[in-house]
Amino acid sequence: MAPMSAPAGSDRPFLNRRLAAFGTTIFAEMSALAARTGSINLGQGFPDTDGPAQIAEAASRAVLTGLGNQYPPGPGVPELRTAIATHQQRFYGLGYDPETEVLVTAGATEAIAASLLALLEPGDEVIALEPFYDSYAACIAMAGATRVPVTLRPHGGAFVLDLDELRAAVTPRTRLLLLNTPHNPTGTVLTSGELAAIAELAVERDLLVVTDEVYEHLVFEGSHLPLAGFPGMRERTVSISSAGKTFSFTGWKVGWVMADGPLVSAVRTAKQYLTYVSAGPFQYAVAEALHLPDSYFDGFRADLQRKRDLLGDGLRAAGFEVYQPEGTYFITTDITPFGEKDAHAFCRTLPERCGVVAIPNSVFYDDPDTGRTQVRFTFCKKDGVLHEAVNRLRGLAS
Ligand code: PMP
Ligand code: GLN
Repeated sequence: MAPMSAPAGSDRPFLNRRLAAFGTTIFAEMSALAARTGSINLGQGFPDTDGPAQIAEAASRAVLTGLGNQYPPGPGVPELRTAIATHQQRFYGLGYDPETEVLVTAGATEAIAASLLALLEPGDEVIALEPFYDSYAACIAMAGATRVPVTLRPHGGAFVLDLDELRAAVTPRTRLLLLNTPHNPTGTVLTSGELAAIAELAVERDLLVVTDEVYEHLVFEGSHLPLAGFPGMRERTVSISSAGKTFSFTGWKVGWVMADGPLVSAVRTAKQYLTYVSAGPFQYAVAEALHLPDSYFDGFRADLQRKRDLLGDGLRAAGFEVYQPEGTYFITTDITPFGEKDAHAFCRTLPERCGVVAIPNSVFYDDPDTGRTQVRFTFCKKDGVLHEAVNRLRGLAS
């Protein structure tokens, strides 16, 4: 069959209007730049050390013994759904029924997409904390909804939420709050007081909440508080997490959704037509991972906290303004001290200037000017890699 003819004047003539504003993701662009230039990649957030060998062995055992090699059940294998519910009870005292209140997805990415596609009507407004993770804007657009950013602003060396701004952003058309704590890219962890205020607002305005908590085990001060545990939230909150971050297997793409039965049932309806199922054998391995002893989770956090301090100190010494992250494995910096005015241009030339790749936060804002001078570095890398990156970045000031 002959290809349909394409209108002239665009390099993506077939792309629909909902997605016209979206190009190649910044992570793909910057990882390709790192590969092309042989630079140290502190851009895309993936560890350069795989997770526990015991869990990798569980995955290979599953493949070799025929566990999950054929389509697993739509909601996920029962072993994993039970492990997810047990994990939520063990760490936060929150009970979910593995039969009806847990859904396994192709990473948190599919969980976010399926939730938004299932819960939103065209024209609904969705409030999201800005700067936002790139898939949020695209999925809101695919759902035909409108995003309303509430911007986290630098204050006292970190990024903070203005609760009055959040309240003022709610309109009669607001259907859903899309939260992310710990927050990528800023590293902000919402406080108990902020979460309580958000919960009150959601109840008062009868809003649904989708909360992306993929960095739940990377909170360096205090501990992670799931929004679903606040008064009135259990029945209106879709909680999302992922094995990618917690167990350092980002390529396995095993994520999950936890919510009341009617919400999970809605999300499952969308999910079954996106991937139907995924990652069969990996689901068994992640079930085992979720049962790892506390020492695993404590060790993982302590290791990343040490790396945060190593990279943070190095970036400061190299001349960056550093916003101290309370969670995640990212550090947002400001490049104004170098006389730089454009993060994207800075990141494009960083490989040739010093052989390092980073992410411009400006792409995570509706108005790129708001984050024009912000650059994100990840610290989920070997110590030697972080030391070498910092040595190279020192050359920037000269
Ligand atoms: N949400 C946030 C905030 C993220 O940083 C990421 C990146 N891993 C995801 C969702 C996607 O997670 P997954 O790889 O499990 O799809
Ligand atoms: N979550 C990772 C990051 O923020 C990237 C994941 C992706 O490439 N989509 O860097």
